[in-house]
Amino acid sequence: MFKGILITKDEAGYQARLQEIDDAVLPEGDVSVRVAWSTLNYKDGLAITGKAPVVRRFPMVPGIDLAGSVIESSSSVWKPGDQVVLNGWGVGETHCGGLAERARVRGEWLVSLPQRFTPRQAMAIGTAGYTAMLCVLALEQHGVKPEDGEILVTGANGGVGSVAIALLATLGYRTVASTGRVAEAEHLRALGATAVIDRSELSTPGKPIGKERWAGVVDTVGSHTLANACATTRYRGAVAACGLAGGMDFPATVAPFILRGVTLYGIDSVMAPLAVRQEAWQRLARDLDPAKLESMTREIGLDEALAVAGELLAGKVRGRVVVDVNR
Ligand code: NDP
Repeated sequence: MFKGILITKDEAGYQARLQEIDDAVLPEGDVSVRVAWSTLNYKDGLAITGKAPVVRRFPMVPGIDLAGSVIESSSSVWKPGDQVVLNGWGVGETHCGGLAERARVRGEWLVSLPQRFTPRQAMAIGTAGYTAMLCVLALEQHGVKPEDGEILVTGANGGVGSVAIALLATLGYRTVASTGRVAEAEHLRALGATAVIDRSELSTPGKPIGKERWAGVVDTVGSHTLANACATTRYRGAVAACGLAGGMDFPATVAPFILRGVTLYGIDSVMAPLAVRQEAWQRLARDLDPAKLESMTREIGLDEALAVAGELLAGKVRGRVVVDVNR
Protein backbone atom coordinates (compact mmCIF):
# COMPACT_ATOMS: atom_id res chain seq x y z
CA MET A 1 0.00 0.00 0.00
CA PHE A 2 1.10 3.56 -0.59
CA LYS A 3 -0.38 7.03 -0.16
CA GLY A 4 -1.72 8.94 -3.12
CA ILE A 5 -4.62 10.72 -4.76
CA LEU A 6 -7.07 8.37 -6.42
CA ILE A 7 -9.81 9.42 -8.84
CA THR A 8 -12.85 7.18 -9.09
CA LYS A 9 -16.01 7.41 -11.16
CA ASP A 10 -19.01 5.29 -10.24
CA GLU A 11 -22.61 5.58 -8.97
CA ALA A 12 -21.30 8.01 -6.32
CA GLY A 13 -20.05 10.27 -9.13
CA TYR A 14 -16.57 11.61 -9.96
CA GLN A 15 -14.38 11.80 -6.86
CA ALA A 16 -10.74 12.58 -6.13
CA ARG A 17 -9.52 11.56 -2.66
CA LEU A 18 -6.25 11.26 -0.79
CA GLN A 19 -6.05 7.67 0.43
CA GLU A 20 -4.02 4.49 0.87
CA ILE A 21 -3.77 2.80 -2.53
CA ASP A 22 -3.19 -0.90 -3.18
CA ASP A 23 -0.17 -1.75 -5.35
CA ALA A 24 -2.58 -3.75 -7.54
CA VAL A 25 -4.07 -0.47 -8.81
CA LEU A 26 -0.81 0.36 -10.60
CA PRO A 27 -0.79 -0.63 -14.27
CA GLU A 28 1.88 -2.75 -15.92
CA GLY A 29 5.26 -1.21 -16.52
CA ASP A 30 8.89 -2.28 -16.44
CA VAL A 31 10.08 0.39 -13.99
CA SER A 32 8.81 1.10 -10.45
CA VAL A 33 9.57 4.55 -9.12
CA ARG A 34 9.60 5.96 -5.59
CA VAL A 35 8.13 9.37 -6.32
CA ALA A 36 9.78 12.23 -4.44
CA TRP A 37 8.07 15.24 -5.97
CA SER A 38 5.23 15.90 -8.36
CA THR A 39 3.49 19.06 -9.45
CA LEU A 40 0.19 20.59 -10.45
CA ASN A 41 -0.26 21.61 -14.06
CA TYR A 42 -3.39 23.02 -15.68
CA LYS A 43 -4.23 19.53 -16.93
CA ASP A 44 -3.91 18.10 -13.41
CA GLY A 45 -6.39 20.73 -12.28
CA LEU A 46 -8.82 19.53 -14.94
CA ALA A 47 -8.25 15.88 -13.95
CA ILE A 48 -8.68 16.38 -10.19
CA THR A 49 -11.77 18.57 -10.47
CA GLY A 50 -13.26 16.57 -13.36
CA LYS A 51 -13.91 19.84 -15.23
CA ALA A 52 -12.77 18.26 -18.51
CA PRO A 53 -12.53 14.59 -19.48
CA VAL A 54 -8.78 14.33 -19.02
CA VAL A 55 -8.94 11.00 -17.13
CA ARG A 56 -9.74 8.15 -19.50
CA ARG A 57 -9.47 5.18 -17.17
CA PHE A 58 -10.63 4.58 -13.58
CA PRO A 59 -9.46 4.31 -10.89
CA MET A 60 -6.66 6.75 -11.77
CA VAL A 61 -3.80 8.36 -9.91
CA PRO A 62 -3.56 11.87 -11.43
CA GLY A 63 -0.30 13.74 -12.01
CA ILE A 64 1.20 14.14 -15.47
CA ASP A 65 4.69 14.69 -14.01
CA LEU A 66 6.91 12.93 -11.51
CA ALA A 67 10.49 12.96 -10.27
CA GLY A 68 12.00 10.27 -8.10
CA SER A 69 14.25 7.23 -7.98
CA VAL A 70 13.96 3.81 -9.53
CA ILE A 71 13.11 1.05 -7.04
CA GLU A 72 12.84 -1.90 -9.40
CA SER A 73 13.48 -2.26 -13.11
CA SER A 74 13.45 -4.91 -15.81
CA SER A 75 14.31 -2.25 -18.40
CA SER A 76 17.84 -2.46 -19.84
CA VAL A 77 18.17 1.33 -19.48
CA TRP A 78 17.31 1.87 -15.81
CA LYS A 79 18.58 0.36 -12.56
CA PRO A 80 17.55 0.81 -8.93
CA GLY A 81 18.71 4.15 -7.56
CA ASP A 82 18.61 6.02 -10.90
CA GLN A 83 17.11 9.49 -10.57
CA VAL A 84 14.42 10.02 -13.20
CA VAL A 85 11.87 12.50 -14.50
CA LEU A 86 8.66 11.77 -16.38
CA ASN A 87 6.48 14.26 -18.26
CA GLY A 88 3.33 13.34 -20.13
CA TRP A 89 2.95 10.20 -22.26
CA GLY A 90 -0.65 9.94 -21.00
CA VAL A 91 0.49 9.44 -17.41
CA GLY A 92 -2.22 10.79 -15.09
CA GLU A 93 -4.73 10.35 -17.94
CA THR A 94 -4.66 6.73 -19.13
CA HIS A 95 -1.82 5.39 -16.92
CA CYS A 96 -1.49 6.07 -13.17
CA GLY A 97 0.59 9.19 -12.55
CA GLY A 98 2.77 11.13 -10.14
CA LEU A 99 0.52 12.38 -7.34
CA ALA A 100 1.34 9.38 -5.14
CA GLU A 101 4.32 7.85 -3.35
CA ARG A 102 4.71 5.11 -6.01
CA ALA A 103 4.42 4.79 -9.77
CA ARG A 104 4.94 1.95 -12.22
CA VAL A 105 5.77 3.17 -15.72
CA ARG A 106 7.45 2.26 -18.99
CA GLY A 107 11.20 2.75 -19.12
CA GLU A 108 11.08 4.53 -22.48
CA TRP A 109 9.00 7.33 -20.96
CA LEU A 110 11.71 8.33 -18.49
CA VAL A 111 14.53 10.82 -18.85
CA SER A 112 17.49 11.12 -16.48
CA LEU A 113 17.21 13.88 -13.94
CA PRO A 114 19.58 16.58 -15.27
CA GLN A 115 22.54 16.90 -12.86
CA ARG A 116 21.90 20.60 -12.49
CA PHE A 117 18.47 20.01 -10.91
CA THR A 118 17.19 18.46 -7.71
CA PRO A 119 13.99 16.39 -8.09
CA ARG A 120 12.12 19.31 -6.52
CA GLN A 121 13.48 21.76 -9.08
CA ALA A 122 12.63 19.37 -11.92
CA MET A 123 9.04 19.36 -10.72
CA ALA A 124 9.01 23.12 -10.21
CA ILE A 125 9.71 23.11 -13.95
CA GLY A 126 7.36 20.21 -14.72
CA THR A 127 5.39 19.88 -17.93
CA ALA A 128 4.62 23.60 -17.85
CA GLY A 129 8.30 24.57 -17.85
CA TYR A 130 9.32 21.92 -20.32
CA THR A 131 6.53 23.11 -22.65
CA ALA A 132 7.75 26.70 -22.27
CA MET A 133 11.16 25.46 -23.40
CA LEU A 134 9.58 23.68 -26.40
CA CYS A 135 7.93 26.99 -27.37
CA VAL A 136 11.21 28.89 -27.08
CA LEU A 137 13.00 26.20 -29.12
CA ALA A 138 10.32 26.54 -31.84
CA LEU A 139 10.93 30.30 -32.06
CA GLU A 140 14.71 29.83 -32.09
CA GLN A 141 14.56 27.13 -34.75
CA HIS A 142 12.39 29.43 -36.84
CA GLY A 143 15.23 31.93 -36.70
CA VAL A 144 13.70 34.54 -34.38
CA LYS A 145 16.58 36.50 -32.86
CA PRO A 146 16.62 38.94 -29.93
CA GLU A 147 17.33 41.86 -32.31
CA ASP A 148 14.22 41.05 -34.38
CA GLY A 149 11.89 42.66 -31.82
CA GLU A 150 9.56 41.92 -28.93
CA ILE A 151 8.21 38.49 -27.97
CA LEU A 152 4.65 38.34 -26.65
CA VAL A 153 3.99 35.84 -23.83
CA THR A 154 0.31 35.32 -22.94
CA GLY A 155 -1.01 33.84 -19.70
CA ALA A 156 2.16 35.34 -18.27
CA ASN A 157 1.49 34.61 -14.59
CA GLY A 158 0.75 30.95 -15.30
CA GLY A 159 3.32 28.15 -15.21
CA VAL A 160 4.16 28.05 -18.92
CA GLY A 161 4.12 31.84 -19.20
CA SER A 162 6.35 32.46 -16.17
CA VAL A 163 9.01 29.97 -17.26
CA ALA A 164 8.89 31.27 -20.86
CA ILE A 165 9.55 34.83 -19.64
CA ALA A 166 12.48 33.72 -17.47
CA LEU A 167 14.02 31.71 -20.34
CA LEU A 168 13.55 34.43 -22.96
CA ALA A 169 15.14 37.01 -20.65
CA THR A 170 18.24 34.83 -20.16
CA LEU A 171 18.50 34.46 -23.93
CA GLY A 172 18.42 38.23 -24.41
CA TYR A 173 14.90 38.67 -25.81
CA ARG A 174 12.62 41.57 -24.91
CA THR A 175 9.33 40.10 -23.73
CA VAL A 176 5.91 41.64 -23.31
CA ALA A 177 3.88 39.80 -20.68
CA SER A 178 0.11 39.70 -21.22
CA THR A 179 -1.80 39.03 -18.02
CA GLY A 180 -5.16 39.37 -16.32
CA ARG A 181 -3.24 40.17 -13.12
CA VAL A 182 -1.42 43.43 -13.84
CA ALA A 183 -1.01 43.81 -10.08
CA GLU A 184 1.73 41.17 -10.49
CA ALA A 185 3.65 43.39 -12.92
CA GLU A 186 6.62 43.76 -10.55
CA HIS A 187 6.95 40.00 -10.22
CA LEU A 188 6.79 39.60 -14.02
CA ARG A 189 9.45 42.27 -14.46
CA ALA A 190 11.64 40.48 -11.91
CA LEU A 191 11.32 37.33 -14.02
CA GLY A 192 12.54 39.34 -17.00
CA ALA A 193 9.51 40.87 -18.74
CA THR A 194 10.36 44.21 -20.31
CA ALA A 195 6.71 45.33 -20.45
CA VAL A 196 3.37 44.15 -19.07
CA ILE A 197 -0.01 44.55 -20.80
CA ASP A 198 -3.56 43.77 -19.68
CA ARG A 199 -4.86 40.63 -21.35
CA SER A 200 -8.09 42.48 -22.27
CA GLU A 201 -6.04 44.15 -25.05
CA LEU A 202 -5.95 40.77 -26.80
CA SER A 203 -8.96 38.81 -25.58
CA THR A 204 -11.81 40.38 -27.55
CA PRO A 205 -12.58 39.91 -31.28
CA GLY A 206 -10.06 41.89 -33.35
CA LYS A 207 -9.27 42.71 -36.97
CA PRO A 208 -8.01 40.01 -39.38
CA ILE A 209 -4.70 41.85 -39.50
CA GLY A 210 -3.28 44.64 -37.35
CA LYS A 211 -0.17 46.75 -36.80
CA GLU A 212 2.95 44.58 -36.87
CA ARG A 213 4.46 44.24 -33.41
CA TRP A 214 5.72 40.80 -32.33
CA ALA A 215 8.79 39.06 -33.69
CA GLY A 216 7.53 35.95 -31.93
CA VAL A 217 4.75 34.79 -29.63
CA VAL A 218 4.38 32.15 -26.91
CA ASP A 219 0.62 31.67 -26.51
CA THR A 220 -0.94 29.68 -23.67
CA VAL A 221 -4.43 31.16 -24.01
CA GLY A 222 -5.88 30.32 -27.45
CA SER A 223 -9.17 31.76 -28.78
CA HIS A 224 -9.26 35.51 -29.65
CA THR A 225 -5.91 36.03 -27.89
CA LEU A 226 -4.16 33.67 -30.30
CA ALA A 227 -6.03 35.14 -33.28
CA ASN A 228 -5.04 38.69 -32.30
CA ALA A 229 -1.46 37.61 -31.61
CA CYS A 230 -1.18 36.15 -35.12
CA ALA A 231 -2.77 39.28 -36.62
CA THR A 232 -0.14 41.52 -35.02
CA THR A 233 2.94 39.35 -35.61
CA ARG A 234 5.60 40.91 -37.81
CA TYR A 235 6.46 39.85 -41.36
CA ARG A 236 7.80 36.24 -41.34
CA GLY A 237 7.50 36.05 -37.55
CA ALA A 238 6.49 32.94 -35.61
CA VAL A 239 3.80 32.04 -33.10
CA ALA A 240 4.12 29.00 -30.81
CA ALA A 241 0.66 27.91 -29.65
CA CYS A 242 0.54 25.52 -26.72
CA GLY A 243 -2.51 26.33 -24.59
CA LEU A 244 -6.21 26.92 -24.29
CA ALA A 245 -6.59 28.69 -20.93
CA GLY A 246 -8.91 31.21 -22.62
CA GLY A 247 -10.66 28.76 -24.96
CA MET A 248 -10.07 26.01 -27.48
CA ASP A 249 -11.48 27.94 -30.44
CA PHE A 250 -9.34 29.82 -32.94
CA PRO A 251 -11.50 32.56 -34.46
CA ALA A 252 -8.89 33.81 -36.96
CA THR A 253 -8.48 34.44 -40.70
CA VAL A 254 -5.67 33.26 -42.95
CA ALA A 255 -4.57 36.88 -43.52
CA PRO A 256 -1.47 36.83 -41.24
CA PHE A 257 -0.28 33.60 -42.85
CA ILE A 258 -0.76 34.53 -46.52
CA LEU A 259 -0.04 38.28 -46.35
CA ARG A 260 2.77 38.34 -43.78
CA GLY A 261 4.18 34.84 -44.03
CA VAL A 262 3.55 34.30 -40.30
CA THR A 263 4.16 30.72 -39.16
CA LEU A 264 2.00 29.10 -36.49
CA TYR A 265 3.74 26.28 -34.63
CA GLY A 266 1.68 23.77 -32.66
CA ILE A 267 3.45 22.67 -29.48
CA ASP A 268 2.70 19.31 -27.90
CA SER A 269 4.60 18.11 -24.86
CA VAL A 270 2.70 14.88 -24.18
CA MET A 271 3.91 12.69 -27.04
CA ALA A 272 7.07 14.63 -27.97
CA PRO A 273 9.83 12.17 -28.97
CA LEU A 274 12.63 11.36 -26.53
CA ALA A 275 15.28 13.33 -28.43
CA VAL A 276 13.15 16.49 -28.28
CA ARG A 277 12.59 16.02 -24.53
CA GLN A 278 16.28 15.51 -23.90
CA GLU A 279 17.12 18.65 -25.84
CA ALA A 280 14.49 20.63 -23.90
CA TRP A 281 15.81 19.41 -20.52
CA GLN A 282 19.42 20.13 -21.50
CA ARG A 283 18.45 23.64 -22.51
CA LEU A 284 16.44 24.15 -19.30
CA ALA A 285 19.56 23.13 -17.36
CA ARG A 286 21.57 25.72 -19.29
CA ASP A 287 19.13 28.61 -19.58
CA LEU A 288 16.76 28.61 -16.60
CA ASP A 289 17.89 30.73 -13.68
CA PRO A 290 17.29 28.61 -10.51
CA ALA A 291 16.64 31.74 -8.41
CA LYS A 292 13.87 32.86 -10.79
CA LEU A 293 12.44 29.34 -10.75
CA GLU A 294 12.29 29.38 -6.96
CA SER A 295 10.68 32.83 -6.95
CA MET A 296 7.76 31.53 -9.01
CA THR A 297 7.33 28.27 -7.07
CA ARG A 298 4.92 27.42 -4.24
CA GLU A 299 5.37 24.17 -2.30
CA ILE A 300 2.43 22.10 -1.02
CA GLY A 301 1.83 18.64 0.42
CA LEU A 302 -0.27 15.94 -1.22
CA ASP A 303 -3.17 16.76 1.10
CA GLU A 304 -3.35 20.32 -0.24
CA ALA A 305 -3.32 19.29 -3.91
CA LEU A 306 -7.08 18.73 -4.08
CA ALA A 307 -7.88 22.31 -3.03
CA VAL A 308 -5.08 23.94 -5.01
CA ALA A 309 -6.28 22.17 -8.21
CA GLY A 310 -9.44 24.31 -8.08
CA GLU A 311 -7.44 27.50 -7.41
CA LEU A 312 -5.25 26.75 -10.41
CA LEU A 313 -8.21 26.48 -12.78
CA ALA A 314 -9.62 29.71 -11.33
CA GLY A 315 -6.38 31.47 -12.41
CA LYS A 316 -5.46 32.19 -8.78
CA VAL A 317 -2.10 30.42 -8.73
CA ARG A 318 0.97 32.42 -9.67
CA GLY A 319 3.71 30.49 -11.44
CA ARG A 320 4.32 26.88 -10.45
CA VAL A 321 3.21 24.52 -7.69
CA VAL A 322 5.43 21.65 -6.50
CA VAL A 323 3.92 18.79 -4.54
CA ASP A 324 5.86 16.94 -1.83
CA VAL A 325 4.14 13.56 -2.19
CA ASN A 326 5.65 12.30 1.06
CA ARG A 327 3.91 14.79 3.32
P1 NDP B 1 -1.70 27.85 -15.44
O1 NDP B 1 -3.04 27.59 -14.87
O2 NDP B 1 -0.51 27.85 -14.59
O3 NDP B 1 -1.71 29.25 -16.21
C1 NDP B 1 -2.71 29.63 -17.10
C2 NDP B 1 -2.73 31.15 -17.16
O4 NDP B 1 -3.59 31.54 -18.23
C3 NDP B 1 -3.32 31.79 -15.92
O5 NDP B 1 -2.39 31.96 -14.89
C4 NDP B 1 -3.78 33.12 -16.48
O6 NDP B 1 -2.64 33.98 -16.59
C5 NDP B 1 -4.21 32.77 -17.90
N1 NDP B 1 -5.66 32.57 -18.00
C6 NDP B 1 -6.44 31.79 -17.23
N2 NDP B 1 -7.72 31.87 -17.61
C7 NDP B 1 -7.75 32.72 -18.66
C8 NDP B 1 -8.79 33.21 -19.48
N3 NDP B 1 -10.04 32.84 -19.31
N4 NDP B 1 -8.45 34.06 -20.47
C9 NDP B 1 -7.16 34.45 -20.67
N5 NDP B 1 -6.14 34.01 -19.90
C10 NDP B 1 -6.44 33.16 -18.92
O7 NDP B 1 -1.54 26.82 -16.65
P2 NDP B 1 -0.20 26.35 -17.39
O8 NDP B 1 0.71 27.51 -17.56
O9 NDP B 1 0.30 25.11 -16.77
O10 NDP B 1 -0.80 25.97 -18.81
C11 NDP B 1 -1.23 27.00 -19.69
C12 NDP B 1 -1.97 26.38 -20.86
O11 NDP B 1 -1.07 25.60 -21.61
C13 NDP B 1 -3.13 25.48 -20.46
O12 NDP B 1 -4.18 25.64 -21.38
C14 NDP B 1 -2.53 24.09 -20.59
O13 NDP B 1 -3.51 23.12 -20.85
C15 NDP B 1 -1.58 24.29 -21.77
N6 NDP B 1 -0.48 23.35 -21.79
C16 NDP B 1 -0.27 22.67 -22.95
C17 NDP B 1 0.76 21.81 -23.07
C18 NDP B 1 1.01 21.15 -24.37
O14 NDP B 1 1.69 20.14 -24.41
N7 NDP B 1 0.52 21.71 -25.46
C19 NDP B 1 1.61 21.49 -21.92
C20 NDP B 1 1.38 22.33 -20.77
C21 NDP B 1 0.33 23.20 -20.71
P3 NDP B 1 -2.74 35.52 -16.20
O15 NDP B 1 -3.26 35.57 -14.80
O16 NDP B 1 -1.34 36.00 -16.33
O17 NDP B 1 -3.67 36.17 -17.19
